[in-house]
Amino acid sequence: MYNKKSFETLQNHFGERWSVSPSDIKNHGRSESYFPIYAPDAVVYPITTEDVVFLVNICQEAKIPLIGYGIGTSLEGHTAAINGGICVDFSKMCKVLEIDPYNMSATLEPGVTREQLNTELRHSGLFFSVDPGANATLGGMASTRASGTTTIRYGTMRENIQSLEIVLANGECISTNTKAKKSAAGYDLTSLFIGAEGTLGLITKITVKLHPIPELVTSGVVAFDTINDAVKAVQDITFTGAPVARLEFLDEKSVEAFNAYSKLNLPLKPHLLFELHSSEKSSPSDIGNFKSACSEHGGMQFQWSSKEEERKELWALRHKGYYAILASAPGKRAIVTDICVPQTELGKAVLETQKDISRSGISGPILGHVGDGNFHAILLVDPEDPKEMKAAKAIANKMANLAISLGGTCSGEHGIGIGKLDFMHEQLGHAWNVMGHIKEALDPSNIMNPGKLVKKINYF
Ligand SMILES: Cc1cc2nc3c(=O)[nH]c(=O)nc-3n(C[C@H](O)[C@H](O)[C@H](O)COP(=O)(O)OP(=O)(O)OC[C@H]3O[C@@H](n4cnc5c(N)ncnc54)[C@H](O)[C@@H]3O)c2cc1C
Repeated sequence: MYNKKSFETLQNHFGERWSVSPSDIKNHGRSESYFPIYAPDAVVYPITTEDVVFLVNICQEAKIPLIGYGIGTSLEGHTAAINGGICVDFSKMCKVLEIDPYNMSATLEPGVTREQLNTELRHSGLFFSVDPGANATLGGMASTRASGTTTIRYGTMRENIQSLEIVLANGECISTNTKAKKSAAGYDLTSLFIGAEGTLGLITKITVKLHPIPELVTSGVVAFDTINDAVKAVQDITFTGAPVARLEFLDEKSVEAFNAYSKLNLPLKPHLLFELHSSEKSSPSDIGNFKSACSEHGGMQFQWSSKEEERKELWALRHKGYYAILASAPGKRAIVTDICVPQTELGKAVLETQKDISRSGISGPILGHVGDGNFHAILLVDPEDPKEMKAAKAIANKMANLAISLGGTCSGEHGIGIGKLDFMHEQLGHAWNVMGHIKEALDPSNIMNPGKLVKKINYF
C-alpha cells in the first residue's frame, strides 16, 4: 500500500471517480490472456486533462505507479499492476472532440473506441481504418501501436496518428505535432509515444487521420489444399496490384473452430479471407486479377460479395475468431503469439510453426494478417497445468526466435508488456538500451507503467 495521505488527497479530488472496491481493482488487474491477476491498489476515472495532471503531480511526489487503461484487451500483461499503484481508466474520457472533414482528421479523447469513432463518422464519407479484432480504445491502440485486418492498405496506428497530447511523468502537458500534413521540426515525438505502452506518459488527446470510404468494397473467401499454396498465393496477390485492403489466413484447425462457433460449413482446408477496395469501374478487373493469382496456386471455392450485410457477416466471423478458438477447448486460456516476418519468409515460418505445434500435443490453431507477414498461433492451455504451460511457452519462444532469425519481429502488433521482455535484447541489441535511456530521461522515478517494455531502471 502506498502513502495514505496521497490516496486521501486523490479520493477527495476524484470523489465517486476513485475506487478501491475489491471487484473493480480485481477486474482492472485481470488480463484477456493467460497472465495471473495483478490488481492495482486503486482505480481512478479522470474526465479532463487537468484531472490527469493533478493525478500525475500527486503520484510523482509520492512515487506511486500509474498504469494507463483503455478497455483492457491487450494480450501481454500490459495493464498488470506488478508493483501495485493506481490504474488510470480512461473510459470516461470518451468524447469525439472534432471531426475535420477537409483535413481528413478527427480529434478525440483516449477512451473513444474504434467502433464508436466509426459510428460518429458514418455521415462524413470518411472512416478510421485501424481495426484490431477487439473494440479497443484509441488510447490503448496508440499505446500498443495496434494494427489489424486493414493494415496491408492503410497502415498501423503509426501511420494513422497526426498528433498526441501527453501528460508526462513530471506533470507537464505537451502536444507532439501540428495539423500540417508534414513537419520537419525536430524529433518525431508522436512516433516516440505511439507504442510506448504507457511507460513514458499518459495520452489525453489524439488527432487521427481519416480515409475516404471506397466506392466499391468486395469481400470473400477462397480455399486451398495446403498452407504452402495459400502462402504462395499471398505473395503473388501482392504483385497483381489489386487494391487489397484485407488479406487474412485461417488454417484447417481455425476453420474447424469457426464452423463450430458460427454454424458454418466451410471446407476443412486452409482459407484466405479478403477484401478489395475498388471503384465501380475497376472492380471487375481487380476481382479477376485477384482470382487468377489464387487459381495459379489451386485456389478453389471462391465466394465473394459486395453487399454490406454479407461483408459485415464475414468480418464479424473473423473478429470473433479468438473467441471461436477459445470455445473449441472449454476451460482453457490462450497464449497468443504474433510474430511478423518478411513476406518472403512467411511460408517457412508458418510451416515450421505448424510442425512444432503438432509435435507438442498442444492445440494451436493458426490465423493471421498474412498480407503483412503477421500471424498468430492461439496456444490453448490450462494455466494450472505446468506441463502444458511449459510446452506452449516453448512453442511461443521458438516462434519468436524463428521470427528474429528470419529478419522479423517477436511482436507484429500486440506489443511487449511483461510477456515478451525476454526477446527484446535478442531482437534489438543496443537499441533496447537506448529505449531504456529514453525512459530514464522522461520518467526517472519509473512511475509510468513500471516493469513493461524496457529494462528495469536500476539495470543501468
Ligand atoms: C480478440 C482480440 C483480438 C485482438 N486482435 C488484435 C489485432 O488484430 N491487432 C492488434 O494490434 N491487437 C489486437 N489485440 C490486442 C488489443 O486489442 C490491442 O493491444 C489494443 O490496442 C489494446 O487496446 P485497449 O483499449 O484494450 O488497451 P489496454 O489493454 O487497456 O491498454 C493497452 C496498453 O496501453 C496503455 N494505455 C491505455 N490507455 C492509455 C493512455 N490513455 N495513455 C497511456 N497509456 C495507455 C496501457 O497501460 C497498456 O500498456 C486483440 C485482442 C483481443 C482480445
